[in-house]
Amino acid sequence: MTDTILEIEDLNVYYGKSHALKGVSLSINEGEIYGVIGPNGAGKTTMLNAIAGFVDYEGTIRYDGTDLTGVSPQQRVRDGLIYCTEDRDLFPYFSVHENLLMGAQFRNDRDSVRQDLDMIYELFPRLDERREQEAETMSGGEQQMLAVGRALMSDPDVLMLDEPTLGLAPVIIQDISEALERLSDQGLTILLAEQNSTFALRHAERLSLIETGEIELAGTYEEFHDNEYVREAYVGVH
Ligand code: ATP
Repeated sequence: MTDTILEIEDLNVYYGKSHALKGVSLSINEGEIYGVIGPNGAGKTTMLNAIAGFVDYEGTIRYDGTDLTGVSPQQRVRDGLIYCTEDRDLFPYFSVHENLLMGAQFRNDRDSVRQDLDMIYELFPRLDERREQEAETMSGGEQQMLAVGRALMSDPDVLMLDEPTLGLAPVIIQDISEALERLSDQGLTILLAEQNSTFALRHAERLSLIETGEIELAGTYEEFHDNEYVREAYVGVH
């Protein structure tokens, strides 16, 4: 028996006259990695922005059984729905350590914050080595690790990652990959939006393919892996 933690029903987003998301529905089970793949401009970021409360939408988003209509982005974060954006949104002149602490700004339990800091430094030793370095002077891959680390400092129940591998070297993608596996083993629910289908297929148990704002295909990893259209159009290009 699996429990749904995040449920999206008939989600529509408009930017002026442009209909960016067209009736998207999907549900994510507690503890799974759910992949959303699709080309540039398909609507993946728009979907995550709607879940985070950053854009207006029509339809229903339920998190842990509660309809999020009218719930502020800040409250969604407090409730454990954490979004690591494609832009990373780091504080460029803050150190690695300060950026991580910013992720914990809504938390009161200092002991568990300290434990999470230790866990993140262990998960990403490169961050540990660079605790005092300013975020803006880090490499792209290190900044991505910092962005994920900061999101983890917010104590997520659901972690939404937008294109975590974008522009990164294979060796860094491997580090991110191992971190995702460990987090998943710890029971974290992860919603992974990726143009890099190979990476998404490596991790996700179930996936949706979005094209021009609509879900074209949804299914298990096996169904995606064996699907001829997915293989031809999306796999092996990265
Ligand atoms: P990418 O992988 O390039 O980030 P994506 O799948 O995340 O693509 P979105 O960024 O969600 O796609 O974009 C979906 C569509 O909505 C695109 O046509 C995009 O140009 C449009 N769009 C996104 N944000 C805005 C905005 N603020 N105003 C107007 N149109 C927007």
